[in-house]
Amino acid sequence: MSSNDKIRAARIIAVANQKGGVGKTTTAINLASALAGSKRVLLVDLDPQGNASTGLGVGYDQRGNGSYAALMQEAPAASWARETSVENLHIITADNDLAGVEIELIASERREYRLQEALQQLASQYDFILIDCPPSLGILTLNALVAADGVLVPLQCEFFALEGISQLVRTVERVRRAFNADLHIAGIVLTMYDRRNNLSELVAADARSFFGEQVLQTVIPRNIRISEAQSHGCSVLEYDRRSSGATAYGMLADELAARVAARPERKG
Ligand code: ADP
Ligand code: MG
Repeated sequence: MSSNDKIRAARIIAVANQKGGVGKTTTAINLASALAGSKRVLLVDLDPQGNASTGLGVGYDQRGNGSYAALMQEAPAASWARETSVENLHIITADNDLAGVEIELIASERREYRLQEALQQLASQYDFILIDCPPSLGILTLNALVAADGVLVPLQCEFFALEGISQLVRTVERVRRAFNADLHIAGIVLTMYDRRNNLSELVAADARSFFGEQVLQTVIPRNIRISEAQSHGCSVLEYDRRSSGATAYGMLADELAARVAARPERKG
């Protein structure tokens, strides 16, 4: 079989930062929607709070099997994902059971590989799989990092933004050594950038001098349409296509897709 005959598997990107409120879920939802304009995309909600599921308009009563079932390998793989209002975008929703996973997995074998094993069963159906991680570096985020090819790190433009990142970078290195040799930082994206605020500029300059090329060119502005869209259960691209937020997430999708395409496919 020549390499051209090979079935292409999805590129898997974990959206992670152990700090809460930095724009992980917002980035996961809107980047997934933007990518779905030209690719087949699956969004995995791995945060027990389920904000990505709610933000895409999937209410608690509509969820059924989700990421808990996937991690526990319950129910057939075909039942884990469901459609969203965005064409070509599917979601594996989160539910309350997910909060118990940390404890349920403690004694189980290969507990770090649960999500990887689950997503391998779906990888041929998608071009991109994005994982929205919870705000911690526990077993759920660990599962995301083991399953992922790359990590996308949202960095909020505010004081102390860089402090938490070094811990995440160390965790990524540890996961690379122990579980997933191909794992890399796919990009750091500056979020909630406020042009009228000098602090935003300072944080951006600091991040670029410290992390260099790892910081993506695209910057996500603070834009009220982004948070409004979430409360309406849709992406900002559906809510207000002409807003600065929608434009920025469209650019982020193009930039990230180009970076990912430039890397060779993972071997394992
Ligand atoms: P995390 O998932 O990292 O905890 P969220 O994505 O939930 O963070 O974002 C935290 C809050 O900030 C949410 O209320 C969200 O609507 C808001 N928010 C995120 N990004 C932006 C933005 N670019 N402009 C305005 N509000 C934003
Ligand atoms: Mg979140």
